[in-house]
Amino acid sequence: MRLKQLHIKGFKSFAYDTVIHFNEDVIGIVGPNGSGKSNIVDAIRWVLGEQKSKELRLEQMADVIFNGTKNRKEAPSATVELIFDNDRGLLPTEYQTVNISRTLYRSGDSEYRLNDVVCRLKDIKSLLVDTGIGSNSYAIISLGMVDDLLYDKDDSRRYMFEQAAGVSKYKSRKKETLQKLNSTTADLDRVSDLLFEIEGNMKTLEKQAKRTRKYFELKDEYKTLAVQNAVRSMQNLKERYKKAGQDITEKQDAYSAINTEVIAKEAKLEAEKKQNLEQELNVGQQQKELNELVAKLRNLENDKNLLNQKISFKKQSLTNADAVLTESKVS
Ligand code: ATP
Repeated sequence: MRLKQLHIKGFKSFAYDTVIHFNEDVIGIVGPNGSGKSNIVDAIRWVLGEQKSKELRLEQMADVIFNGTKNRKEAPSATVELIFDNDRGLLPTEYQTVNISRTLYRSGDSEYRLNDVVCRLKDIKSLLVDTGIGSNSYAIISLGMVDDLLYDKDDSRRYMFEQAAGVSKYKSRKKETLQKLNSTTADLDRVSDLLFEIEGNMKTLEKQAKRTRKYFELKDEYKTLAVQNAVRSMQNLKERYKKAGQDITEKQDAYSAINTEVIAKEAKLEAEKKQNLEQELNVGQQQKELNELVAKLRNLENDKNLLNQKISFKKQSLTNADAVLTESKVS
């Protein structure tokens, strides 16, 4: 496995897109003070997942992004990419070339990529775990670390030898395994607690299950009885329907007979009415004739009375004339 290329863009003093090729024998990078040599080491450390800004000689992590000069404006993001040749298959992946990159944006968003696919830092660390390469490994030695080794600060020499001997990876695995063991023990404790709780709930649940079973039995029974009841009601209704049909037929027959009788009687009544009307007309006529006869009779009676009066008057005149005549004879 070999580091082939380092690609830096917008990281610290590397405003321009910079590619450093390691495919030929490179034994050093030279330059005046402050020209950015240490920034290259920082870039490698950063892309491998360095989280402490102090280790990168910065106040805060956002300072890794090129912050501009008089002639050039600040960069929107910092990106560092390492390209490894994996022709010997040391890295546990089928790829011949492995690209690892890290980008930090001014918004605070960041991403790691493995062969251009977004991934977690954990994925990068687990890929490199057997190689001894890491952000804090002695494969990358910064200026300050030389001092630390010379003064054996924080047991740093032992740490470096362990890394060189390949012990540290087992140590870190041991640490990880112990952490997993602790978390598994905690999980087991939690499982025991849950089991205790579950046992307590079991009796209640059994009672509930028993009640539920009884409920379903009763429900089935209810269903059967309801169906039987419905069948019986249906039969009853059918019989009543049939009987009602017969009653209606009988009543319709009786109604037809009565209706025929009523029609005959109405016809007879109509004929009698007609006859009465004719008789009434006849009586009226006779009454009229009678009234005329009565009026004639009254006239005749009046004439008769008048004649009688005339006769009495004539008789009186005759009597008077006789008297006068008699008197004149006497005288
Ligand atoms: P020395 O030999 O003094 O250690 P060096 O060549 O190693 O120097 P570095 O320490 O790598 O140089 O680079 C320091 C330079 O990087 C400084 O000029 C500093 O202004 C510049 N620098 C650091 N961070 C940024 C940034 N975010 N944006 C622009 N320039 C930066």
